[in-house]
Parts: sequence; C-alpha cells; structure tokens
Amino acid sequence: MKPKILGAVVFVVLFTSIALAQEPPLKSITYRLSMPRPVSHLFEVSILIELPDELKDKPLQLQMAKWSPGRYGVFDFAKNVQEVRASTGPVTRVDDQTWSVEPMRSTALTISYKVFANDLDGTFSQLDTRHANYNGGSIYMYVVGHKPDPVKLEIIAPTGWKIVNGRTEHPGQTTWQFPNWDILIDTPTEIGPDWTLDTFDVGGKKYHVMVHSFGAEGGKRAALVKDIEKIVRAEVALWGPPEFEEYTFLIHFAADDRSGDGMEHLTSTQIIQPGALGEPGVYDSTLDTVAHEFFHVWNVKRLRPLGLGPWDFTRPANTRGLWVAEGFTNYYGHLVTRRAGLWDDKKFLDREATTISRVEYAPGNRLMSAEESSLSAPFIDGVEHVQATNLQNTAISYYPKGELIGMVLDLLVRGRSKGKASLDDVMRDMYEEFYLKSPNSSYYLRGRGYQTEDLERIVARRSGHDFSDFFKRHVRSVELLPYDEAFGHVGLRLVKTQSKEPYDAGLGIEFEDRKAMIRVVISNSPAEDAGLQVKDQIVSLVGKTVGEDWQKTLARFKPGDSVPVTVKRDRRTINTNLVLRQPERFDYKIEERPDATAEQKALRSEWLSGHR
Ligand SMILES: [Zn+2]
Ligand SMILES: [Zn+2]
Repeated sequence: MKPKILGAVVFVVLFTSIALAQEPPLKSITYRLSMPRPVSHLFEVSILIELPDELKDKPLQLQMAKWSPGRYGVFDFAKNVQEVRASTGPVTRVDDQTWSVEPMRSTALTISYKVFANDLDGTFSQLDTRHANYNGGSIYMYVVGHKPDPVKLEIIAPTGWKIVNGRTEHPGQTTWQFPNWDILIDTPTEIGPDWTLDTFDVGGKKYHVMVHSFGAEGGKRAALVKDIEKIVRAEVALWGPPEFEEYTFLIHFAADDRSGDGMEHLTSTQIIQPGALGEPGVYDSTLDTVAHEFFHVWNVKRLRPLGLGPWDFTRPANTRGLWVAEGFTNYYGHLVTRRAGLWDDKKFLDREATTISRVEYAPGNRLMSAEESSLSAPFIDGVEHVQATNLQNTAISYYPKGELIGMVLDLLVRGRSKGKASLDDVMRDMYEEFYLKSPNSSYYLRGRGYQTEDLERIVARRSGHDFSDFFKRHVRSVELLPYDEAFGHVGLRLVKTQSKEPYDAGLGIEFEDRKAMIRVVISNSPAEDAGLQVKDQIVSLVGKTVGEDWQKTLARFKPGDSVPVTVKRDRRTINTNLVLRQPERFDYKIEERPDATAEQKALRSEWLSGHR
C-alpha cells in the first residue's frame, strides 16, 4: 500500500507545479491608493483585478511581503494590515501574511484593505497630517503567482497635496504603469503640500532633488543641490552613463533626532536625515548618504549578487555578496566624495582610518567572515531583538568590513598591476558582463546576479594576478587584511597607536532616564570577569553615583587596579570589583611613508582623483 500512496502524492505535487507554471497572467491589476484621513495614519488600498475566463473559478491569494529589498531584517508588514475585504464575498486569512479570495465566477473583483503607517523611513511608510511618504513593500499586497504581471497605480491625494516619485513624467501626474509588482514597490513616493523640487542635468540626464524639511534649512538648500550634482558627476565619471533618463533624490529632514535612513532604488533614493538642514553636521551627513545611495544605481540595483531579485517574500533573502553590495558602496561613497572635491585627501584617509580602528576593535571581526556576515543580514540589518543575543561579540557588519576589503583590494590591484588596473575597472567589467550583456535571468530586471567567485575571476583577469588566496583568507575567513602591502603600493602606511583610553574595562554604558545601564560587555574582558551583565544598572563606581563623566572616574586608575562597582540586577544589589587591564584597543592613522617613491605617489594620485 505504501508505494501507491507515495505515487499519488507525487502526482498531486507535479500537477500543482504544472498548474502554477501554466497559469495565464491576469488581465489587469490596478492599485488605487487613497488617504482620506491622514491623522489616522491609515492608507487605504484597493486592488482592482480583471481575471481571464479560465481563472474565475479559482481562489486568488494575496500576500504582504515579510521584508523588502535593501533592508534584510524581517518585519512582517502584514502586522499593520486591517479590514481586508473583497467585492465578491468573504475573505479567508490563510496564514500570517496571506489572504484568500473567491472570485465567485466573476472576472472582475476588488480587494481592499487599510494599512497603518507612521514611520518616516526607507523601508516603512508614514501618513500623517504633514505628508504621506511610502515604500511600496510595506503597503501593497501582491497576487501570489502574479508578481511578474504588469500593474497600474492610481493615487488619490488630499486636496493641495502633490505627488512625486522616481518615475514621475509630468507635474500633476496621478497614474503610473509598472512592468511588474517589484518595480511598483521599487518606486517610493512622496505626497505632500509643501516639498520643494530642484532639477539639474548631467550628461543629458535629468536629476530631481525633492526636499521636505520639517526644520529650518538655514538657506543651505541651493548649495546642497550643487554639491549633490558634483557627486553625481563624479560617480557617472566612474561608471559611465546611467541607464535611466531621470532620477529623483527624495530627501527628508525629519527634525526629530531619531529618524535616519537611506534606501536605494532603480530611479530614485529615499534619504531621511534626523536633524534640520540648518543644523551643524546635517549638511555633510546628507552628502555622505547621497554619495552612498547614488552609487547603488549601479552597484546593487543593477549589478547585483545572486539572490538579490526576484525574491521570495515569504522568507528572508540569503546572499553571500552584501560585503560587495554594501561594503564596496561604503568605500566608493567616501572615495567619490574625495574625487568630487568635497573632501580633501586627509579627510578621506582619516575616515578610512577610523573605520579600520572600529573594525579591528570589534570582537566579531575575528569570528565572522565577510561572507558569513552577509548571510547573517536578516539578524543584523536594522533589527531589534526581543531575545537576548551575543551578536555584539560575535557579529561584524558587512558595511565597514566590506568597505575595508574594497579599499585594500583596490590598492592591491593597482599596486600588483603597476597601475594598469583598479577596482574601478573591475566594477565596470562586472556591470558590463552581468548587467548589460547577460541575457535576462528572470522577469524582474535586465541581466543576472553574480557569485563572489565571479568577482574573484574578474579581479584576476583585470589585474593579471591570482587573488584566490586573498578571497580565501580575507573574504571567506577572518584573517587580518594586508594593510601594509596595500598602503605601501601608494606610498602610505598604517600606523597603530595605543588608544587614548588609559585602561580597558570592556564595558559600554548608556544613560536611560539618568540611570547608567550596561549595554555592552565584551567577551573575556574585565567587565565579564567582574560578573557584569548587559542590562545591569550601575548604581555606584568607587562609592560614587555614576554620571556622564564615568570614564573620567575610571581614568584615575591604572591597569591592574581594582575598582569597586555596585550594580542593580532585578531586585538584587551586587557588589563586585572591576580589575582594569592594559588596553588592547588601538587607534589607526594612515600617513605618508617618508620613503614614498614618485611612482607610488603617482599611483596614489590616480587612486584619489580617479584620473589616469
Ligand atoms: Zn514628506
Ligand atoms: Zn547601501
């Protein structure tokens, strides 16, 4: 009997997969978005579907994505969906993210629902009395099995509110056509009464800068747009002309000291700065984000690692390539800011040295490789954990780690090829081979995804040197990067100095309601030896209450000294001693080698200027 049952199961499975593969596209899918009551933070979505005759007897499933491209944490957008209805009858909830609707032999039906949205962010959405700013993945359900079908969008905005996105063709536009759902959600949209729009041209392409300021701009907007143009010019000089005709920077100055984000899209970017443009530091921080996000036009949005599109939105994405996708973008964001003339050499080198200090101090840097970090993205990308984790000791972000791999690889390619090749060439080769020249591997986008082995192959081909050892030791394992060789090629050296901290406690404190709470305990550190734990409240240090100047208090002691500490943990008071150690923390500086040769200096100048 058993084989027979097994046979029947196999048959059913086969039948289902054939049925799915052969399902015709829907006749039309139209998303209608309205926001009649902004104060409620509820977007109202209607999905108007026309079915081909052969599908009118089949239930239709609609799904909210669990996450959206560019941020790899799982957020379950379905949690903010309410009041799902269908014009043909009852709606059945199938699972946490899926709803099922019966067409009841009708070839036209409407599914409607509301979504609560009150986060100004690159992944979530916000509707309030000031504006609507949305990222489609958190708003629009897709029809299961029909993500590749073309979709239409109609937006009904409150009176006096204007709509803008990276696919706006004319002012006053309220309807759009998209080749598929993925492109619909790749088009974040701003709807509001008082944003501004500036425009410039580079190489015959139009660039728009939408700014919505919730705080004072201090008259800096015109200068900001000019500097954004410089960044665009420098990145276009590196990559060649972008594929689009128009591109839009959607920038918010949130003035809430909290919201901060940047998210890349095919023809636009969402940038949210926490301060006001007129405040110190906000201008530079905005340009930093602009340089990073605009680089993604090529690296990630078009040239992409395998696994980045089309996606299965029922489970988190897994790719080994985020250290290239995000890390190289971090590196080039900084390098291009130097090439655009917005930074000088020193500022760029100091910035990279700071990243080296940070990465080399992080305990996770010796435990987690760049590829493993990429695969851990769903745990470390913008995710807050309810469960206690040890990630502060075990994980390293692929952003700074990939940034340093990118810089060192660039310098090794330049040095070993005697200036004949660079990582710039490698990236252009990758873009050509995988995006421009590969046949489309799916409905989603031109070209196909690369594997990190492909990068390894192209680095070898361009430089004329075998880099397999480099990839093995520094990408797939955790060995210290060859900084000395890399900087030596351009007449620089990395100098390591003892950190200014006179002691090492292995402890991080944050003040919460004026209470000193332990936020970080480094593995095998004095803090761990003393039995201190994350979430302990430090009541006293050397018999004194702990203030913001706690580090000064500790600084009076020498390595080897024992410092009495009292902490509160739950309802217990615990007295212990922190035995300070010689700090193992170092600061790094990148400086000129006294024996730098003319060739090395020439190579450095090519690197920093981008000119050969
Ligand atoms: Zn806005
Ligand atoms: Zn990025």
